[in-house]
Amino acid sequence: MKIQDSTYVFLIMVILLIISSCSQDQELIEELSNEASKIQEHYRPYVDRFIYEAVKRKVNVNDSRLYVITGFPRLDVCGFGYYNYLGNGSMRVEISPEPSCWANRNDLEREILMFHELGHAILDRQHKEGNFSISNPTSIMCSETCNGFFNLYNKFTPKVRDYYIDELFDPLKDSPSWVTKTESTIVIEDKINDQSDNWKFFSSFDSSGIFTSDRLDTIGSDNFALSITSTNPSADNTFSFWRRTIENPQYPIGSGLKLSIDITTENLAGNGVSIAMRTDSKDNEELMISSFQTTQGRTTLNGNLENKTVSVNIGYFPEKVENIHIFLLMLNKTEGKAYFDNIKLELLE
Ligand SMILES: [Zn+2]
Repeated sequence: MKIQDSTYVFLIMVILLIISSCSQDQELIEELSNEASKIQEHYRPYVDRFIYEAVKRKVNVNDSRLYVITGFPRLDVCGFGYYNYLGNGSMRVEISPEPSCWANRNDLEREILMFHELGHAILDRQHKEGNFSISNPTSIMCSETCNGFFNLYNKFTPKVRDYYIDELFDPLKDSPSWVTKTESTIVIEDKINDQSDNWKFFSSFDSSGIFTSDRLDTIGSDNFALSITSTNPSADNTFSFWRRTIENPQYPIGSGLKLSIDITTENLAGNGVSIAMRTDSKDNEELMISSFQTTQGRTTLNGNLENKTVSVNIGYFPEKVENIHIFLLMLNKTEGKAYFDNIKLELLE
């Protein structure tokens, strides 16, 4: 995914919420062909790559009765994989024609989706849920509950890719070493008590001035905090956020990062607030998103909260990181006020 403009945060959030999954759902699908095997041309490289990875791991796979085709659009899923389609003995993968499922995905995102579906269709694997303690899913065969499915690995996390593909072909594979973190060091602690310009406020699609912000708001008598107020709960595409950027961070590849923030809300109605953390890595002079974690879709933060500590983890610090961004967001369709305080970033090794 390339970084293009200031709307990227919203787009990313939307895209990351479109999670792939599949089930043995047979109602809407009709048999399209009587051929023994049919793999549409643009899917072929990913099927070949799956077979290459299998052979590399000394696993025999047989694709002689495999169909890989574009299926029908579905609201909530990007693909289906069947080991024994309609009981006729054919293996079948159907990929949704939605652009967010294939056309707008980069090479490794397509690989993640296709390998997952081929895991069902060729290996007869079922969904496997669960996360490691640092929050990464335990398997590429995770489903709807999966934390950032298309984000499981990328070109800046090759060892993470190795693990997920090993586990795909060997479900009994041991946990990778990078999920075990035993030491924690606080690398940034920000109580928002000074006038530094570390924090910048942005609001998107907000021509009518729905959001206001305060860099040194107060909670209680003298405790400063960042705040955002929203006055229009019906605004759909509009959101705003505080952002802090840490440039050129020198953390070890494979280490973990934990971001914790205290949130206070006053009569906050609607979608509420969220926090997120992202790394950007540089490849051929181009900045690309190399990790992204958010509370959105996992934890609803609204109502009247009092110094509720909220956190997100990046389990594997990617290669070639140029920037870490911390986002404190007021989401769309929200009314009320939120305060963000005591921002803490811990390095986990
Ligand atoms: Zn699935």
